[in-house]
Amino acid sequence: MKSGHVFVPGAPFENKWYRIESLVRRGLPGLQITGLASGREISRRLYLALYVLGLQNRAIALNVSPVLKFTATDYLDLALIAAICRAEFPQCPLFRLPARRICFLGQVSLSGEVHHPGGFLEKCLQCQRLGVQSIVCAPLDKESRAIFPQIDFLPIETIKDLPTLHPQKTKPETTVQAFPARPAIEELSHLRLSREVWRAAILSLAGFHHLLLIGPPGTGKSSLARSLSGLLPEPALRERQEILAIHGDEAPPARPVRMPHHSASLAGLIGGGNPPEPGEVTFAHNGLLILDELAEFQGAALQALRETFDTRKASISRARHRMHFPARFLCIATTNPCPCGRRGSKNRCLCSPARSLHYLRNIIGPLSDRIALEVRVQKSAHDVPLDGIEARSGLLRAWARQKERFSNKETIFFNSDIPGEEVDQYCSIDHLCADIHVDAILKGFQGSRKLIETRRLARTIADLAGAAGIEKEHFLEAASFQCLKEYSAL
Ligand SMILES: [Zn+2]
Repeated sequence: MKSGHVFVPGAPFENKWYRIESLVRRGLPGLQITGLASGREISRRLYLALYVLGLQNRAIALNVSPVLKFTATDYLDLALIAAICRAEFPQCPLFRLPARRICFLGQVSLSGEVHHPGGFLEKCLQCQRLGVQSIVCAPLDKESRAIFPQIDFLPIETIKDLPTLHPQKTKPETTVQAFPARPAIEELSHLRLSREVWRAAILSLAGFHHLLLIGPPGTGKSSLARSLSGLLPEPALRERQEILAIHGDEAPPARPVRMPHHSASLAGLIGGGNPPEPGEVTFAHNGLLILDELAEFQGAALQALRETFDTRKASISRARHRMHFPARFLCIATTNPCPCGRRGSKNRCLCSPARSLHYLRNIIGPLSDRIALEVRVQKSAHDVPLDGIEARSGLLRAWARQKERFSNKETIFFNSDIPGEEVDQYCSIDHLCADIHVDAILKGFQGSRKLIETRRLARTIADLAGAAGIEKEHFLEAASFQCLKEYSAL
């Protein structure tokens, strides 16, 4: 009796090891798989493939532990075969590597050919996070190999090659620049807006702070939100890997931009289904989520959105399992101030105060506390175009400072990513508290989440100004971007 084992990653973005154990002995020929939701179907298929390796006369048992409840398991074929090979051909050069340093990812046909499974890049990302050095898979093009420069990809075309495969290094020859540089400040040249709105937009982009644009219809809120997508910074390598893992072959050429309609269901926006599928917040991961007419979205969807703001994940619970998809994005939302849209403008609003308040009920409070920038958009004779040169140089300076500051952090890219418990370290305002004015503002926040958002925003304002620490003027400016409260007081 011979035995062996290999390790594989599990459900999407789970970053957890599963162990496949094999037992090969003489006896009634057959292949049994336990610990897998679709074990019976896979065993029938793989048993035929075993003819290629001449192992069809063995009694083979495979077990996956812990039990893998996730159902899309076609990526496991090659690992299951590898576990059998590890028991049968222990001298194979591949198995000299520690089991957690090599991973087998592939779908195997009846004739033993190896193909890339669905979600291949997502599995590669999990392998990288779990510390894998080599991945055995179907041949990969140069561009795909360049996405994961730390991993050696060992290509095989059929499982017949598995016992003789050597773990030699096959580094990519060139690093391919998958995404082009982003130009496009010119896209904003047609817009005329107030200086305050432009400032809020630039601050939002500079530190990835969520932005809420409030104003009557026709004031350019939506076109501003859409045009800002052209100014997003280049994704870092780790961000790009995640974008490709989520979108696969349909990955956008830069950061993703998603614009779900306000009639989107909870499942459409956050994710759902069985097995769970990602929603718009995950497709916008590392990119821009534009929510036009925020007040019109379903209450349940907005509540779930609030949770993704906090955790940067979309959590979907099902009877059999719970899944977490990544959902870290810049949200730019727009809303009318009331159902008729005219409140606060020169035109007469026809809505009662109670009706206006009811309209904004799902936004004011817990959701708006997580949005750093609220700004009123109104047409005025003083509206100006954006000073593109100044905006671009400010943004580049702020992004460079954040890149340097968070260079040794795995999950922080921008000031808005600073976790609550690290805000004191990065966004210290203690020395400002003696000031009566700042003190009064701080008391007004009453320890709310808004204060944390404001401090992160103040850090970005200081970065744009090239200041080392947060100064009084930075904090006061950050605290000034709140106008939603005024609507609730009307
Ligand atoms: Zn109104």
